[in-house]
Amino acid sequence: MSILVVGSVAFDTVETPFGRAERVLGGSASFFSLAASFFAPVNLVAVVGSDFGEKELEAFRGRPIDLAGLERVDGKTFHWQGKYSLDLNSRDTICTDLNVFEFFEPRIPDAYRASTHVFLGNIDPVLQRRVLDQVERPALVGADTMNFWISGKPRELRETLTRVDILLINDSEARELSGEWSLPKAARAIRAMGPQTLVIKKGEHGVLLFTDGGAFAAPAFPLEHVFDPTGAGDTFAGGFFGYLAAAGRHDDAHLRRAIVVGSTLASYCVEAFSLDRLRTLTRPEIEARYKAFLDLTRFDAL
Ligand code: AMP
Repeated sequence: MSILVVGSVAFDTVETPFGRAERVLGGSASFFSLAASFFAPVNLVAVVGSDFGEKELEAFRGRPIDLAGLERVDGKTFHWQGKYSLDLNSRDTICTDLNVFEFFEPRIPDAYRASTHVFLGNIDPVLQRRVLDQVERPALVGADTMNFWISGKPRELRETLTRVDILLINDSEARELSGEWSLPKAARAIRAMGPQTLVIKKGEHGVLLFTDGGAFAAPAFPLEHVFDPTGAGDTFAGGFFGYLAAAGRHDDAHLRRAIVVGSTLASYCVEAFSLDRLRTLTRPEIEARYKAFLDLTRFDAL
């Protein structure tokens, strides 16, 4: 079993009320890979520029993350800059320098084609489809997208969604994609577009899961100190998908556990800048917080 992930590997400049981090390692595929690698081997597909060096690669070393699909081309690595509001609930994108990402054409190494699980990070839906065209028969296809593609390439996105099993998006994206304000109604509409399973992320308000079996809700872990929310969504996706790949099943019971595993990983991610906390995270810490989630959400029948 292995997970192929395609997405961004980036330099991020992040400002939060607690400090500023300049050109630190980021990108959707970076957060996803580190989180998923706690559970399953990861095959990373992304592009970086000539300014991306050994120091940055260090973050992936010593983990089951294959870097044969991390293409290096002349030019600058994708750079994203964001600034968070005082309550950390919203952020402004200050700049998005696509750089080498602008001409990204995902090329899947032969050794990756038999990956059992494929996660399409938030990139152009046309490129997401090209990735699917290059793989054999994955047991499960997950995907993420954002407002930019929902409004910018609606038809292309709808075509990609017909080939996706699990879609992970945030609440405003679910509303925009479906044209429905009510999230259960939005879920029904989106699930009719292809993905049988829909995960709606609501930031500090937790996650909703919609399947044929109904709905499930999990809170975000109530942390005393949130330092930098960047990458929380991608880290959630990595934990969620990594757990499902390791389990080899995605019935409702496994999906519910995967939601809490994803929430656990995301709760650690936000405790420090960049991938710093994920890099020091241990399996016993993951297990301890998963257990704390059980205590947090347990209640008796009336
Ligand atoms: P999240 O906080 O989960 O939304 O993810 C933030 C990460 O997404 C940052 O590390 C950025 O480098 C990356 N990112 C931001 N904008 C884009 C974009 N347009 N395409 C790909 N990755 C992006």
